[in-house]
Amino acid sequence: MHRMTLEDLEETFQISPNGNGKETLKRQKEIEKAIRKTLANLGEDPDREGLQRTPERVARMYDELTAGYHVDPVKLINDALFDVGYSEMVIVKDIDFYSLCEHHLLPFFGKAHVAYIPKGKVVGLSKIPRIVDMFARRLQVQERMTQQIADFINEVLHPHGVAVVVEGAHMCSMMRGVKKANATMVTSALLGVFKSHLKTRAEFMEHIGRRRFDD
Ligand SMILES: [Zn+2]
Repeated sequence: MHRMTLEDLEETFQISPNGNGKETLKRQKEIEKAIRKTLANLGEDPDREGLQRTPERVARMYDELTAGYHVDPVKLINDALFDVGYSEMVIVKDIDFYSLCEHHLLPFFGKAHVAYIPKGKVVGLSKIPRIVDMFARRLQVQERMTQQIADFINEVLHPHGVAVVVEGAHMCSMMRGVKKANATMVTSALLGVFKSHLKTRAEFMEHIGRRRFDD
């Protein structure tokens, strides 16, 4: 069976586990400068008391909110992969996530529901929310995030199937004048038996309290 190497995972999922350190400090300084400039261009005085440390805070915040680029996928899952004979559906639902929309740099957040049917291998349950986090803590669009979570689990476990449903509220729709758009979005990614077997899919939907994907 084809196993993905660390390099494959890094390349496929845009992960650079060694991205932290000196480089990060340098990048943070640049972000600070840019935020200071932005404040001035918003008509603010970057030197007034309340704003003095804002560029520094914002730079650190972006580092935290995009930490998913620097997760080491091997560290994340390697010590939590187990060989089992179990082949019933594994479901982790209502996983809270917080992400940033890449179009506006505003948050979108909500719940992710993840299921897979093992084929000889399972991953520790606590790792599933961390996989979600790895892909949420980046600049994202919800559709891609949903697909990446599914693809990653698929590459790591080679299960019979993976299903991911994400429900997200988007601040860029909620805060900006555009009231026409529904601010909550549901996206799904189905692989393997979840794609080919209606019954399997329906079972998952029932577990997470949705009758269909699009209701
Ligand atoms: Zn947006």
